[in-house]
Parts: sequence; structure tokens; C-alpha cells
Amino acid sequence: MTSYDTLIIGSGSAGGVLAARLSEDPTHQVLLLEAGPDYTSAEALPSDLRYGFGTPSGILSLTHDWGYSATATPAAPPIAIPRGRVIGGSSSVNATIFLRGIPDDFARWVALGNDRWAWESVLPYYRKIEKDQDFQDDFHGSDGPIPVGRYGEADWPEDQRAWYAACLDAGYPESPDMNRPGTTGVGPYPLNSRGRVRHSTALAYLLPARGRANLTIRGNAVVQRICFAGSRAAGVEALIDGAAEEISAGRVILCGGAIASPQLLMLSGIGPAEHLRSLDIPVLLDRPGVGDGLRDHPTTGLLWRVRSDFPANTTAHFHQVGLRYSAAGSDFFNDMIVYFGVHPVEQTLFVRPTINYALSTGTLRLTSTDVRVQPALNYGYYAHPFDRQRQREAIRLCIKLVGTDGFAGFVREPIQHPGQALHDDPALDHWILRHADTGHHSSSTCRMGPEADGLSVVDQRGKVYGTEGLWVVDASILPETVRANINATVLMMAERMADWLK
Ligand SMILES: Cc1cc2nc3c(=O)[nH]c(=O)nc-3n(C[C@H](O)[C@H](O)[C@H](O)COP(=O)(O)OP(=O)(O)OC[C@H]3O[C@@H](n4cnc5c(N)ncnc54)[C@H](O)[C@@H]3O)c2cc1C
Repeated sequence: MTSYDTLIIGSGSAGGVLAARLSEDPTHQVLLLEAGPDYTSAEALPSDLRYGFGTPSGILSLTHDWGYSATATPAAPPIAIPRGRVIGGSSSVNATIFLRGIPDDFARWVALGNDRWAWESVLPYYRKIEKDQDFQDDFHGSDGPIPVGRYGEADWPEDQRAWYAACLDAGYPESPDMNRPGTTGVGPYPLNSRGRVRHSTALAYLLPARGRANLTIRGNAVVQRICFAGSRAAGVEALIDGAAEEISAGRVILCGGAIASPQLLMLSGIGPAEHLRSLDIPVLLDRPGVGDGLRDHPTTGLLWRVRSDFPANTTAHFHQVGLRYSAAGSDFFNDMIVYFGVHPVEQTLFVRPTINYALSTGTLRLTSTDVRVQPALNYGYYAHPFDRQRQREAIRLCIKLVGTDGFAGFVREPIQHPGQALHDDPALDHWILRHADTGHHSSSTCRMGPEADGLSVVDQRGKVYGTEGLWVVDASILPETVRANINATVLMMAERMADWLK
């Protein structure tokens, strides 16, 4: 029987990077367990995973989804929280916008007690993950596993051109390179699917590593809990193809993502003691921070019908141009982002003004001791008055921009729109609370930070406080969110942790 040096739970953005990097040492035996199916070649990947946002069906690849449901606000109907359940995890189903966190984000992380995560320390790892096809300089990587590119102005469809022009006319600066520190305004998104193929960790990291004798990847392997010998993580109990197995390993790295990682820690006895006791889970460690401080980028979608003969964009990404700006009265640079595009099937224009640095936080709690039952997710979007203020401003801005001449030729009547509530702050707040939705960037449920703050779960190298042989590396350990879609940041963190874990 093989004995594993490292057992990794979850093959997503972080788990994919770690499995590939740690197995570079041929003497190190790595086991990667993934709850969803494994596809062992690029050709075997279903087309919605392979092409993602370049296919009509790939608008949200719900064929490989955990199917979570959540409370957005007390006034909103339950919302779906998509998460990839497949080799590559959410990197296999995401929208491939490859924006980095900004230097101010990492200044915040340092201020929260994470001095190893200053901008100067993370930039080399942002460079390491990418091969930028448009910019070659000290800010961009040129030989990493993930190709990153932008659609040029000549390629943009009519709606993206109209959006770009409207933003420039409104006074926002051009931002041709959104990953360059200090930039703001409107410009082409860096995408890790510029050539149509979505470069998930399944493709970019795991595929080239599959031939290694020391890397074992097992799909349909649902980890139920981490097993301990005293305070040392010694392995896991898992359901593999439906059958129970116990697997031991020298160390365990939990990469289940912002929802499954705190869930698995709690199921293994690490979490808020009273909550664990309420479910008769023996308490290994009382950690009140597990499942606390859930962050996201909250949004409220606006929708208009477009001209029925508007050409459907089924082969290129429908988000090619983005707008970032700082809200009025905000101390947070680039705290807002707007996603904009025409849905390739439904003939609707959708605009998603989104807070990239929200002050409201949520919670995650178990409802069952069965790993297959999702935890209760309560996002608490827009609970903070400054979040509502910024969202009101953003909605008014987007409606004004879509009302400009460049859209008159193809935009028809509104479908989801605040109507008269637009002109009244309390009524607009109510509309916001009813239409609150996820920005798909859940994080910070097992935060990294100093042990003394009482709520941090892992140290700056991802090691779980109070245990031996157990690390968490994924979106759950972000001390707080970054002002960008978080995939590139999770990959960057995993690359850095891999160097340490080697
Ligand atoms: C629809 C959507 C669109 C998005 N768009 C973007 C975007 O455009 N740009 C961007 O930067 N970010 C985007 N994101 C977010 C980004 O993809 C994620 O934040 C990131 O991939 C999270 O990485 P992770 O490693 O933390 O978790 P994941 O990538 O989710 O990986 C977790 C893995 O663990 C596995 N797992 C969970 N529980 C168990 C268990 N019990 N046993 C075994 N395996 C388990 C899961 O199946 C999964 O494979 C999007 C996300 C979604 C869902």
C-alpha cells in the first residue's frame, strides 16, 4: 500500500497548484482527492468546462456544481452560490477574469498582522502563475502556466464598444492594463481564456503533472472528515465511488474552498465549540473564527432586453471590457467594479454593479454532521450602510450610462430595474436588499492572521493553529477580500505556499 507524504483535499484553484508543485519532487508522494469527477485529458473535458464563457451553455457551468443555496439578505429570496465540483474546482467553471488584487489590499493584510504578505512579496508570485500575452515588463509574468490575454478594441462587439465609449465620455480614464498597480477606469479585462480555452488548474497545472509516478489523483472522492492522532492530522475518512475508506498521510492540506474548508474543519472538531457541541461533534479545538467573517463581492443585477436581431456572441467572452472606480466619499481605491455584457442566448443586456470591497460580512454554520448536507450560508450583503450607499450610487451610474446615445440602437425596455425607486434612497435600499446577489467570490471563512486576535484560524503559512500536520490553502484563508476577482490571488497564494511547503 502506498504511503502518502502529502494528502490534498480538493483539486480547485489552490489544490491544483499545490498538487502539481509538490509532486515536482519525485521522492514526495502526493495524493489529491476531489469530490467531483476527474477528466484526465483536455479532450475529455466537457465543452462547457473547456470553453466556458465562450459557449452559450457555459454562461454558468452548472453541470459540475455543488448546488449551494444561501441567504443573501433577510429581504431577498434564496440565491444560488455556484462552486465547481470537478477536477480544477471553481477554476473549471469560472468566468476567467484574471484580475489581481491591488497593493492597497496587501497593505490591509499586513495591517491585520500578516507582514509576509506585503505587495512586494506577492508580486513575484502573481508573475509566476501567468504568461501575459500583451505586456512584458516587471509587472507581468512571461513564462507561467496560465496564458493571460485581452480582447483588442477591434474585436469588441457593439455592446462592449458602447460601454467603453460611455465610460470615457463620463470621464473615467482609459485602463489598457488593469493588472498594472495604480490603474483605474475602463479597459479590457485580462482573461485566462483569450484563445477560447479556459485555462483552469485542471489544464494548466494538473495535466502536465499527470505522468508523474508520485502523483495520484482520485475523483469522486468525498472527504468526510480529517482524522487526528492527538493534535496531529494523520489522514482522512472519505467516500470514494460511494465506498468508505480511511487514508493516512504524513500531512494534510485542505483546499476545499471558502465553503467546504470551514465545513470540513468543523466536521473534524475544529470550530466554535458551542456550535460543534450543538451537533454532538467532539470538540478538538475551540476556534470561533471558523465559518466567521464570510466575504464576497455583493452585486445587484440590472437587465434590459436587446433588439431581437442583435448578433449573439457565442464564441467570445461576453465580458471583454470592465469599469473600476472609487465610490464617492470612499477611502478605498477601486472599491467598485461593473460587469457588463449581452447574454448570448437570452438577448438581454446585463449590468452588474459590484462592491469590490464591502464592509458587510456573513457567517457559515453546519446544519448536519453529514458532509453531503450543505452548511447554512448567510452572506449579510448590504447590512453596512456604506455598502448600500455605494450600491445606490453604482446603480444610478449604470442606468445613466446605459441611457446614453451609444445604446439607443440596440437596448430596448428594462426587465430588472428599480423603476421609480431609483429616485428615493430608502426605496432604492429596499430594492437593493431584495435583489442582492453573489459576485462569486466567497472568501475569508478560515482567516489567516495572528493567533492572538482570537478569530484567525491559520498562520501566515497556512498552518492551522493548535494542530500539527494540517494546513488550509484556498480562498477561505484570505484575511479579507481583495479588490479583484479572487482566482488569480488564490493561485498566487498557493504558489507561494507551495514554495514553503516544499
Ligand atoms: C460561476 C463562477 C464564476 C467566477 N468567476 C471568476 C472570475 O471570472 N475570475 C476570478 O478571479 N474568480 C472567479 N470566480 C471565483 C474563483 O474561481 C474562486 O474563488 C476560486 O476558484 C476558488 O479557489 P479555491 O481553491 O478556494 O476553491 P475551489 O476552486 O472551489 O476548489 C475547491 C475544490 O474542493 C473540492 N471539494 C470540496 N469539498 C470536498 C470534499 N469534502 N472532498 C473532496 N473534495 C472537495 C471541490 O469539489 C473543488 O474542486 C468565479 C467562481 C464561480 C463559481
